[in-house]
Amino acid sequence: MKKVLTTCSYCGCGCNLYLHVDNNEIVGVSPSGSHPVSQGKLCVKGWRGFAFVNHEDRLKQPLIKQEDGNFREVTWAEAISYVADKLKQIRNRYGPESIGVLASARCTNEENYLLCKLTRTAFGSPNIDHCARL
Ligand code: SF4
Repeated sequence: MKKVLTTCSYCGCGCNLYLHVDNNEIVGVSPSGSHPVSQGKLCVKGWRGFAFVNHEDRLKQPLIKQEDGNFREVTWAEAISYVADKLKQIRNRYGPESIGVLASARCTNEENYLLCKLTRTAFGSPNIDHCARL
């Protein structure tokens, strides 16, 4: 079994942990004893929050919903282009303040900063909030 040192992705505390990997599957977790945040401890999300990685319902590529209600698998480039076109249509029709963005505690500070820039400068909307307030 291999142990892979990584950062917990569940909140902004950034605890370090080891993923126990067997046959390319995560089978367990243990905290890093030397990390200044985790100090050998993890909360329940850090200990038990890895089941989604190999869950059968996990989305593995972008999907676009068709008019008949079915989903079509698309590339990331097609999905991003589709979303960008739809956001432009909404902004042009209803104004920039019609767009709102919810950031995530699971993103890094840098990712949340970039999301803020995207919302305020590219979309022109002041409407950005954080999932911790939901
Ligand atoms: S183990 Fe808990 S406190 Fe530490 S980063 Fe993960 S979710 Fe946050």
